[in-house]
Amino acid sequence: MLGRLARWLRILGFDTWYFREIDDRELLKLHADSGRVLLTRDTQLVQCRGVGGHVLVRSDGWEDQLRQVVVALSLDVCPERMLTRCLLCNLPLENLASEEAYGRIPDYVAGSMFAFRGCRSCDKVYWAGTHRKRMEEVVSMLRFDRKGVQEPPTG
Ligand SMILES: [Zn+2]
Repeated sequence: MLGRLARWLRILGFDTWYFREIDDRELLKLHADSGRVLLTRDTQLVQCRGVGGHVLVRSDGWEDQLRQVVVALSLDVCPERMLTRCLLCNLPLENLASEEAYGRIPDYVAGSMFAFRGCRSCDKVYWAGTHRKRMEEVVSMLRFDRKGVQEPPTG
């Protein structure tokens, strides 16, 4: 239910565990053992059992979900943290030299991009590609929400 929210939290660089399917008991045990904040849409799960450290996500739409979580947890959204974590594995990415990235990326990317990051676990390579603009829009949206005032134009 929260797959897109989890993906966006990772895009923004936040350490996010996500389980598409998990038994309630197992989830609550992980929650208790890890000390992590539980994000869920399951009202019964958190109300009946008095689960601490959680955010009950209200909206169906991922943008509103992301807004709610960022505000509720006072997450520091900044462009510098963006794409520092593997979207599949949730592990921190490492900077790659171009030579290390070549052969693992499409040719058109190899010719036009120079900064790459890679995941040690799944070998996926990331670069500032076509989704960058969308990511920057989302970061702006979230920062705008937090401050309540628009930053003055620079220059
Ligand atoms: Zn990975």
